[in-house]
Amino acid sequence: ALYLARRVTQPLDKLQDTVNRLGRGELDARHTMRGPQEVDQLGQVINLIADQLELARDELAREKKDVTQRVTGRTRELQQANRLLMDIANRDALTGLANRRRLELELERHISLSKRTGVPLAVVMMDLDKFKQYNDTAGHLAGDTLLQNVAHNLRGRARSTDIVVRWGGDEFCILVPGTSQEGAVAAAQGFVDAVVLAAENSPLPEGTQLVGASAGVACYPGDGDDGTALISRADEALYHAKETGRGRVVRRPQATV
Ligand code: GH3
Ligand code: MG
Repeated sequence: ALYLARRVTQPLDKLQDTVNRLGRGELDARHTMRGPQEVDQLGQVINLIADQLELARDELAREKKDVTQRVTGRTRELQQANRLLMDIANRDALTGLANRRRLELELERHISLSKRTGVPLAVVMMDLDKFKQYNDTAGHLAGDTLLQNVAHNLRGRARSTDIVVRWGGDEFCILVPGTSQEGAVAAAQGFVDAVVLAAENSPLPEGTQLVGASAGVACYPGDGDDGTALISRADEALYHAKETGRGRVVRRPQATV
């Protein structure tokens, strides 16, 4: 009787043990002890369930890895698209220069920096002279090419810390950090020369005046405490340069109209 009892209870205990291990997540646990037919059959069913559990677990792990990889990939694509979008939003499509939106951001940042460090800052507003006539005689496409060449020359003339911006139409703005008032006027003259050089290297239809440029300069500190004020002072100086003969640079305090 004792032998018979052991023959049944031992495999049953083992089976119980296997079920407990499976319950704890040890999915490689299997019932291996042979015993009475009923217990063996039960063991086979438990083993089959364990096989299926293992398969399901592996499949879940694979899917999880796949989803993680897809999420990582999409996040990277999204970041790239975002960078591209930011670049497009801050750049002028025709010339590739920074645009007005970028300048407004940079100007506030540079003014804050200048307020802290005491390093001066200049803004040069520049507008091409008689560009409308050039467009009318040489054609709009030639006008576009001239604008691109002007942009190229301005970039070439600017220091690496300057920010050259197409403000709109035939107007350009250059942010010149770390420059004294005299230095800013000299820099502005250099930018005007760069425009003339671009014009000289462009086709000039008969009876057309050579395109030049006028520029107005405003500096921090002295001419304004924020970006809007500085731009507005530089714009006034530019207006004065246009009014007093074009092709010249005017520094704001002297522009008492
Ligand atoms: P001023 O000396 O007073 O500045 O005269 P202007 O002939 O340069 O005239 P103004 O600055 O008032 O006008 C700018 C002209 O620039 C008007 C338009 O024909 C031209 N323009 C503006 N944007 C573009 C552009 O993207 N491409 C081309 N080709 N021409 C443009
Ligand atoms: Mg103009």
